[in-house]
Amino acid sequence: MSLQIVKIDISSLQAPLLQPFRIATGQHDQLDNLLVTLELSDGTVGYGEAAIASHITGETIDQTKENLLATAQCLEHHDAADYLRISFWLHDSFPLNKAAVAAVEMALLDALTRSMKIPLWKLFGNKAHRLKTDITIVIASLEETQAKAKEFYQKGFRSFKIKIGRDMDLDFKRVQVVAKMAPQSQIILDANQGYDAAGALKFLKMLDKAKVKVDVIEQPVAKADLEGLKRVTKLSKVCVCADESASSISDVIGLIQDHAVGAINIKLMKTGLIHGFQIARLASAHGLKLMMGGMMESNVAMTAAAHLACGVGGFDFIDLDTPFFIKGEAARNPYLTSSGIYDLTKVKAGIGIKPLIN
Ligand SMILES: [Mg+2]
Repeated sequence: MSLQIVKIDISSLQAPLLQPFRIATGQHDQLDNLLVTLELSDGTVGYGEAAIASHITGETIDQTKENLLATAQCLEHHDAADYLRISFWLHDSFPLNKAAVAAVEMALLDALTRSMKIPLWKLFGNKAHRLKTDITIVIASLEETQAKAKEFYQKGFRSFKIKIGRDMDLDFKRVQVVAKMAPQSQIILDANQGYDAAGALKFLKMLDKAKVKVDVIEQPVAKADLEGLKRVTKLSKVCVCADESASSISDVIGLIQDHAVGAINIKLMKTGLIHGFQIARLASAHGLKLMMGGMMESNVAMTAAAHLACGVGGFDFIDLDTPFFIKGEAARNPYLTSSGIYDLTKVKAGIGIKPLIN
């Protein structure tokens, strides 16, 4: 008996944040996303989330809502087992709105795996069930940076993603203070396109001289500056990770062919789940390191990303920490510990998250 999609609803998913999430290109003051609720003909309900980061991707909430409403009409009565064909159609229809693609794929695969009574990660492989996320140290004063690094180190975090890219002198002090407050920890730098190649190389040299060990630097240069990425990769010992420059399968093929980076940050909101899975397999087959990341997402999308990383396995960097920035009830995730461990062995079916509906 085929399982049909009988209904898709769109609602808003909002939550206050504990502190503004500040990066080189802008900031989030609250979580303001869209929730897709998809019902199958056997009564199973699945959830998907669209996280709209206008200052990063140019997508808007209004346009995403419009696209999701159009999708809801088109997909009614479709066979849910046709999820690959539906994914092709979504990518073709909304090439500039990947958050909408991600949300529909997520809701569909959540519903399908709930109906099959298997956790979502089983669709992507069978490699691991537990992951430990890093914690982000957002752009802030030196004092705030120190206090946050100390607080999260005491909570048990051992991987720190430090946002940089606005002020090199202050960045230098901030990275040093985090390394000091969090000994023996993984250090990830994320410039969010804030430097150029010469600046990034100078910055990495300054840190090397100061004996700060950096594990990876993410997106040191502008998205389109592939020569810059290549140059930092070639002239520095530190692994360079593409994030904004790796927004599609074809972007990643280009980066692999050019030997431009040593790692790729995969985010569901850039590519959806199916392409995210394909990018993970493609990049690791070519010897690149993998990072699983996200935008400002609630537990629905964050946990879906954790399922993908768990299923595929072999991720070197896990950056799924936004639940630690959300205030109140919406931050609660039954599979996530206070020190950042996702334990998906407890998920019985689907993503396993029931969202708070606003
Ligand atoms: Mg990034």
